[in-house]
Amino acid sequence: MTERHEPGVALDDTDVLVVGGGIVGCSTAYYLARFGVDVALVERDDLNTGASGANAGSLHAQLTSRYFADGPPSRVEAAARALIPLSREAVDTWEELSRDLDHDIEFMKGGGLMAAESAAEMDLLRRKASLEQAAGLDVHLLSRSEARSFAPYLAETVQGIEVCPIEGKINPLLATPALARGATRSGARIHRRAGLLSLERDGGGFLAKTARGVVRCRRVVVAAGVGAAAVAAMVGLCLPGEARLQHMNVTVRTRPMLPHLVQHAGKRLTMKQSASGTVIIGGGLPARRDPATGKIQVLRDSIEANLKTARNLVPGTARLQLLRTWGGESLMTDGNPILGGVSSVPDFHLAIPANSGTTTGPLCARLLAESLSDRRPSLDLDAFSIERY
Ligand SMILES: Cc1cc2nc3c(=O)[nH]c(=O)nc-3n(C[C@H](O)[C@H](O)[C@H](O)COP(=O)(O)OP(=O)(O)OC[C@H]3O[C@@H](n4cnc5c(N)ncnc54)[C@H](O)[C@@H]3O)c2cc1C
Repeated sequence: MTERHEPGVALDDTDVLVVGGGIVGCSTAYYLARFGVDVALVERDDLNTGASGANAGSLHAQLTSRYFADGPPSRVEAAARALIPLSREAVDTWEELSRDLDHDIEFMKGGGLMAAESAAEMDLLRRKASLEQAAGLDVHLLSRSEARSFAPYLAETVQGIEVCPIEGKINPLLATPALARGATRSGARIHRRAGLLSLERDGGGFLAKTARGVVRCRRVVVAAGVGAAAVAAMVGLCLPGEARLQHMNVTVRTRPMLPHLVQHAGKRLTMKQSASGTVIIGGGLPARRDPATGKIQVLRDSIEANLKTARNLVPGTARLQLLRTWGGESLMTDGNPILGGVSSVPDFHLAIPANSGTTTGPLCARLLAESLSDRRPSLDLDAFSIERY
């Protein structure tokens, strides 16, 4: 669709302008409006068309095994200290939203497990569990025979599992629209197809030129996902983080067979069953961008590798036909969110969630909205400031 540019028209005049209509932007507008702050949101395309509409919907609380593969022990410990309190409260935030929103978002807290198929993976789970327990997360290890009765659908090759009872899922296609409706009901104004084109200082605030007209605002919140770096550059800020393209699969519907969120200790896999009975299989295998069209493309190697890991760990999925595959792109940070103001650009705020941004998005938004409405955030935001870079 060709974008109509109407840069001269006055589109809005607000206290806070939120840029981006994914889970973070819509949650920020939701909480700000509920806290009585005048707020408008501009979205370049339609709501939920970025990573927030393309993800797996897993609510993660355990550290992923990638932390242990990639980082030195000091990084893993720092991640555990900062992320575990955030993830715990993030799941509570989703539970609260599942009661408050106007639509069933298919929130489920049925527990998650990470499976080990080798002695080395079992050793990793032991180290991971003790670090997570020390950081206050409720996790426990189950032996091979205990795992068999806890999750009889797992393959016989499984040596043991780590269980985290608060893990679960939501349906990402339902959650962001429900938050947007909640924001609008509390007075937020949402402008679709209004991509931010430029941002200038204007007296005590900002003049934001969008594809649908000009917005005057006192403060800006950037919740633009992989587009955040371009928005930050408009005020001369260089944003850290790396855009990553990831692959997803979904099978046809089947009888209830997978009551947990399932991960693998040594391979890239997340797996769960949706409320409709489909099995959603992901885990961060790569996708690519077609240089000719700019569209995200799936890779055959990712499909095959992802499905092979899935059927080896949960043999019952071998008979399920693949219904659809797709890719999505999200911004990866050092693991922690980037939240709050920037000392060099007053009244300019960043809302970039932790890498599990579906899990942490609404909580990150609430913490930021609390600080912007002069409430005391329930978690200390200092560890998440951009100034740490
Ligand atoms: C395939 C995949 C699977 C994932 N699975 C999980 C999972 O299971 N669990 C989990 O916790 N996390 C998961 N994630 C991560 C999660 O999806 C993201 O961290 C989260 O959705 C980011 O939300 P966001 O609102 O910051 O960004 P987005 O959803 O990308 O939203 C940003 C919005 O900003 C808009 N925008 C950009 N630039 C502009 C501009 N200049 N003007 C106006 N609007 C603009 C975009 O159009 C977009 O709609 C996954 C990610 C991917 C890609």
